[in-house]
Amino acid sequence: MLKVLPANISNLIAAGEVVQRPSSVVKELVENSVDAGASSITVIVEDAGKTLIQVIDDGIGMTPDEAVLCFERHATSKISEASDLENIMTYGFRGEALPSISAVAEVTLRTRRRGEPTGSETVFLPSGLAGREEAAMPEGTNIAVRNIFFSIPARRKFLKSDNAEFRQILSEFSRVALCRPELNMRLVHNGKDILNLKKANTLKQRILEIEGRDMAKELVDVETETYIVRLHGFVGNPEDARKTPGNQYFFVNCRYFRSPYLNKAVMKAYENLIPEGTYPSYYIFFELGPENVDVNIHPSKTEVKFENESEIFEILTACIRESLGRNTILPSIDFAHDSMPGLDFFESRQDSFHPVTRIAGTSYTESKMSSPKAKPASYPLPGTAEVLFDDAVSNVPGLLLVSGKYIVTNLRSGLMVVDIRRAKERILYEKYLCELDGAVPITHQVLFPCSLMLSQEKYALLMEDPERLSALGFDIVSSEPGLVTVNGIPDGFMADEESVKVAIEDLVASFVDAGPLSMQKAAYRENMAAGLARSAASCRFSRMTTDEARVLVDKLFACAEPETTPAGLKTMFIITEEEIERKL
Ligand code: ADP
Ligand code: MG
Repeated sequence: MLKVLPANISNLIAAGEVVQRPSSVVKELVENSVDAGASSITVIVEDAGKTLIQVIDDGIGMTPDEAVLCFERHATSKISEASDLENIMTYGFRGEALPSISAVAEVTLRTRRRGEPTGSETVFLPSGLAGREEAAMPEGTNIAVRNIFFSIPARRKFLKSDNAEFRQILSEFSRVALCRPELNMRLVHNGKDILNLKKANTLKQRILEIEGRDMAKELVDVETETYIVRLHGFVGNPEDARKTPGNQYFFVNCRYFRSPYLNKAVMKAYENLIPEGTYPSYYIFFELGPENVDVNIHPSKTEVKFENESEIFEILTACIRESLGRNTILPSIDFAHDSMPGLDFFESRQDSFHPVTRIAGTSYTESKMSSPKAKPASYPLPGTAEVLFDDAVSNVPGLLLVSGKYIVTNLRSGLMVVDIRRAKERILYEKYLCELDGAVPITHQVLFPCSLMLSQEKYALLMEDPERLSALGFDIVSSEPGLVTVNGIPDGFMADEESVKVAIEDLVASFVDAGPLSMQKAAYRENMAAGLARSAASCRFSRMTTDEARVLVDKLFACAEPETTPAGLKTMFIITEEEIERKL
């Protein structure tokens, strides 16, 4: 027999989608308070919400009639016609939360409409309305949800430990708190203040308050505006990436959402900057026309659908990458140079200097750099006079060589330390890659050709394909099996006998690693270049002059990925002015 389900049963079915656990109730109630225009919201929970979830706000409140009506399914004050769905700026719009909550718990709603002399108290149980009376109370709403799932033991049993459930509550609460730094928000658990967030002026302040620790220096701000999306927020310094994904938040139009897809865009921006298996933190806010994003695809609304998802992916990666470069990794932007010998170099190498900030074939990114005026699509490069001849820059660049191993140079706001050997490795790696791709290698003829006797196996590997030797810049001949004579070596290596011998040994080892010729694929190219670079960089060179050091730094920053060696080790780090101050 076909019949329409009674309200209490259909609410129960809907409740399964909306109310999965106590934290879902916290989320819905806190969002209602925000939607009601509250400026202070207090959340009180007992036993991780299993016994009590109470939310008190100073929002607009409800009239006594509305206080009953709001428990009806699809009773909402937030939309009235279909076209409103395209323009949702409130958290709620479905009118499902309160009926769903009251289907699985005991609800006492006390509320007083702004400007009205008194308020009302309405009690709603799964069986329906259980009482209503006038109540004296301040303007706003105070809603208490008790004994969640008391009538559905199967659901109650399904709940996790108090610890786990409370953690969920904390994260739902934090998600709203991050979106609304302008609100006073307090979370109390079993009588203890867990968070008592005072109205903050900035997102950063709110993040620090929630995290409860000094992570100001760990946050790099990101911001960009394109015709598709405006995005802003903070990402963690690569050095502070953690072993577990912790604070990773995406918000769209102030609504938290999950997105494994966009998470990949963030991870892509951190590629080679953080060790594998670690995760950066991020707090990223997207703003775009509500008509370009669908928040209606999931009942608990943590998934959203963007119209221009793949463009947003690109914009996000580029923006983060650029911010990391600007703030932490590519310090040359910040060089304290009035007149910098390497300047022409930067200018002439614009294309390769900052490839990460470009989005192939598009012109929609416009990044906010340090100047207040937004700049055009191809980002102004660190070498441009705009940046370098800043009023604040008055220092003449200094370069200091430490123990023949490190170069220390001054930035506008600190010091940069470059590891010479690793920097060479990066520079040579990129150079050898180009050569393996067909660029003509530079070969240095050695003054006294040196001969080596190799085992048959090594000899066979080395001489398997003489052409690949010359492609790499080696000039090696053999007059009898096992014996090779080295007449020339690639640029980057030392030409003394000892270095040449080591270079050949390393070369053979690289061939061994790369495997037989027939098996060599894409990885061969990178492994080969990396092996050679490592070998060349570990030659014992004579001490550098400061001019050579300057050239090295310039070359490093002309690399596509100057910040790490091919194996991912840091080539440099920065000591900020604050760090220096802290040490004194
Ligand atoms: P939705 O938020 O989708 O509209 P809810 O079931 O969460 O649906 O709430 C139903 C209605 O009850 C809201 O549209 C709003 O008018 C009213 N309401 C709920 N909570 C509050 C509150 N804290 N202050 C004022 N009005 C509220
Ligand atoms: Mg709601």
